[in-house]
Amino acid sequence: MKTKILLKESEMPTHWYNVMADMPTPPTPPLGPDGQPVGPEALSAIFPDELIKQEMSTERWIPIPEEVRDILRLWRPSPLYRAHRLEQALKTPAKIYYKNEAVSPAGSHKPNTAVAQAYYNKEAGIKRLTTETGAGQWGCSLALAGQMFGLEVRVFMVGISYDQKPYRRSMMKTWGADVFSSPTDMTNSGRSILEKDPDSPGSLGIAISEAVEEAAGREDTNYALGSVLNHVLLHQTIIGEEAKKQLEIVGDYPDVVFAPCGGGSNFGGIAFPFFADKASGKNVRLVAVEPTSCPTLTKGVYAYDFGDAIGLTPLLKMYTLGHDFVPPGIHAGGLRYHGDSALVSQLHYEGLLDAMAVPQLETFEAGVLFARTEGIVPAPESTHAVAAAIREAKLCAETGEPKTLLFNLSGHGHFDMSSYDRYFAGELEDYDYPEDAIRQSLENLPKLKFDLE
Ligand SMILES: *Cc1c(COP(=O)(O)O)cnc(C)c1O
Repeated sequence: MKTKILLKESEMPTHWYNVMADMPTPPTPPLGPDGQPVGPEALSAIFPDELIKQEMSTERWIPIPEEVRDILRLWRPSPLYRAHRLEQALKTPAKIYYKNEAVSPAGSHKPNTAVAQAYYNKEAGIKRLTTETGAGQWGCSLALAGQMFGLEVRVFMVGISYDQKPYRRSMMKTWGADVFSSPTDMTNSGRSILEKDPDSPGSLGIAISEAVEEAAGREDTNYALGSVLNHVLLHQTIIGEEAKKQLEIVGDYPDVVFAPCGGGSNFGGIAFPFFADKASGKNVRLVAVEPTSCPTLTKGVYAYDFGDAIGLTPLLKMYTLGHDFVPPGIHAGGLRYHGDSALVSQLHYEGLLDAMAVPQLETFEAGVLFARTEGIVPAPESTHAVAAAIREAKLCAETGEPKTLLFNLSGHGHFDMSSYDRYFAGELEDYDYPEDAIRQSLENLPKLKFDLE
């Protein structure tokens, strides 16, 4: 009975898979403030040309540069596991597999794109990168990648996480980055938020505004985003490509694929390579799992909205809860984002991807069961996928269906143990669906002068 299914380094994928090549309708373009599609030049103040090209490319396969593969080889290919012990605990006839992205130095899938983004910026002659981070996973990943390519990295860290995750801060510093609690008084965006709410806990949207503002104002500085954008999801497809090869080794194929969904990057990363099969007729369900307190895909509206809180980014057509929605302070910091990837949103809108929401207590319960059976303590974000897979496996136990389930273990929870402590102490709550806050924030969606549809 195989437990770990491993690929050789030489079997690591050489190309990223671009889902845009297989979408039934062309992806919606980002729009400028005038309601017209933005051209590459609008993005070039903050992104290098190669990444802008990838953002718009419809080529199915995009080569992974050798310099990027060299660094990815420090932890890739990542192992695929068969969760025998979890299956036994659930007495399920389902086969449960998980892809373990916790093995990267930063502890999650995020370095997969951080390394690629740092590489293309370095090649373009950029010296500094700014970014935001929620729980700290992305800040760590970019700090690591910046260090590998000799770039300075400045991180705006969501205030509430800055206080909750001191060791994420230390880790970023270890990899040479500067870290600030957002909102700061260093940017116009930060100051405008602090004026309205001096005790603002911050949000990903606010931190993005600060990082974008600084990058746009400096020649030597670009901005890097850890999720949402097409090129980020592209870089994460190495996860699903590897998983497909690994399942082939054991002669299996998933009926359902689950991944936690914040901005959609690890979900797109594991799901899109399977979508390629779905697009050519294969029956596979791809399920994005989000928190009930920040239910973007399951309760949001599909509309053009800003990617940040202030309105500095182009408008993206996506499921959104409104760009000024500040989600409750749940412990899955990486899932507290008001919007979602445009690619994931469009495919969900067209009924090709599924989404579900899980309440906080159920996710921690799943995380603890997973730790006690499989050994790995999952990140609070990842427990969303664990919980969803457990629900499905229990259903299989009732119906007797021996389904094959695959989920992405997007990261470990070693820096999130205070959240587990609070769960054990009975201090965690299931936030009500923040209906009023969402309704209010949806009233502030940008009004478009031109409706492109
Ligand atoms: C950031 C993060 C997520 C959510 O981000 P996506 O872009 O949706 O993948 C999920 N899990 C972990 C461990 C993360 O760090």
